[in-house]
Amino acid sequence: TFMQTDTPAFWSPPVAKLQPYVPGEQPRIAGLIKLNTNENPYPPSPAVLAAIGEAAATGLERYPDPESLALRQTIATRHGLQPDQVFVGNGSDEVLAHAFSAFFRQPGQALLFPDVTYSFYRVYTQLFDIEAELMPVDEALRIDVDALVERAAKGCAGIVIANPNAPTGIGLPLSDIERLLRACPDRVVLVDEAYVDFGGTSALSLVQQYPNLLVAQTLSKSRSLAGLRVGFACGQAVLIEGLTRVKDSFNSYPIDRLASAGAIAAMEDEAWFDQTRHDVMQARDMLRGQLQDLGFDVLPSEANFVFARHPKHDAAQLAAALRERAVLVRHFKQPRIAQYLRISIGTPTQCDALVTALKAIL
Ligand code: PMP
Repeated sequence: TFMQTDTPAFWSPPVAKLQPYVPGEQPRIAGLIKLNTNENPYPPSPAVLAAIGEAAATGLERYPDPESLALRQTIATRHGLQPDQVFVGNGSDEVLAHAFSAFFRQPGQALLFPDVTYSFYRVYTQLFDIEAELMPVDEALRIDVDALVERAAKGCAGIVIANPNAPTGIGLPLSDIERLLRACPDRVVLVDEAYVDFGGTSALSLVQQYPNLLVAQTLSKSRSLAGLRVGFACGQAVLIEGLTRVKDSFNSYPIDRLASAGAIAAMEDEAWFDQTRHDVMQARDMLRGQLQDLGFDVLPSEANFVFARHPKHDAAQLAAALRERAVLVRHFKQPRIAQYLRISIGTPTQCDALVTALKAIL
C-alpha cells in the first residue's frame, strides 16, 4: 500500500485531512465463512443471470442509456412512484455521495447525524468539506430523536439517518422520521434504507407528502447483488433533478448495460426476494437466541446482521479467535462500540459454524 507521511503540496486541503473509509475484509483465500460485510448469503434470482447473459450477447459495443430509464421505470413501478422520482447509481454509496454533494454543502451550517452510524457519512462530509455535527446516541445505542429535532430546528445543512441504523440494526418508526422531516422543512432529510427489507419500515410511503425527503436503498443486500453495484434514491422530482445535475457534471453513466439488465430482473422477481429475505430474518432471530444463550447481549435487529457484546470477553480478541477458526465477523475500533461484534447473517449452516466456533472459544 502507498503510505504518505508528509502531505504532498499537490493535495487539496480536504483530501489532506481525509480519513478514507476502511472497508471490511474481502478475503483472497477460499473457504472462509464470511459474516463481516452484510452481504446476502444466498445468490441472486436465477432470472438475474439469464438477463445479464442476454444483455451481454447484444449491444455491449454501445454506451448504456445515460438516463437509465428502463431501470428507473422498474423501480418506480415497484414502489408506486414516477420515473422522475427515482435516481440510480453504482451502489447506494455513490448515490449517497451525490446527495451529500447536491444538498448538504450549505455554507456555515452543519449536517446532523448520529455519532454511531454508517462511517461513510463522516468520510463524505470530509471529502466535500461539509461541517458535521455528530449527535450522541443513548446508553442503549438508540438515536436520540428529541435531541435531533431540537438541534435541527435551530438551523442545519440537513439530516442523515440510516434506518435501520448501522452497525446497530436498530430501527426507527416512521413517526420519528416524520418528526425529523418537519423539524427542517428547508433541508433534505436523507434516510438510508440499505437494510430496510429485513423487517424495517420504509419511508418511501412518505415521498409524496414531504418535499425534503430523500430515501436511499440498495440492491446489494436484500437482492443479493453486492457484486453488481446498483443503488437508488427516491424523492420528489426537484430532489432527483438536483442529484442528476451532480451526476451529469461528472458525465458519468450511472449504470452499465449488464448491471441494468440484472437489476431489472432482480426487482421483478418478488418470489425470490421474499423467500431469501425471510430465510435471512428467520436465521437472524434464531442466531440472536443462540448468542444470548452463550451470554452475549444482543441488540434488537431489523437488519441482516446482529450487534452483540459479551460481558466477559474482549470483542477484538473474539474477532481474532474467530478469524483463526475461519469465521470472519466485523469489529470496529470506535471507542463507543469497541466491545461489540457485528455479525452478518449467513445461511443456517454458516450460522451453526459460527456458534460452534464461539462455543470452542468461550
Ligand atoms: N448504507 C449503509 C448503511 C450500508 O451499510 C452500506 C453497505 N456498506 C451502504 C449504504 C452501501 O451499500 P452499496 O454501496 O453496496 O449499495
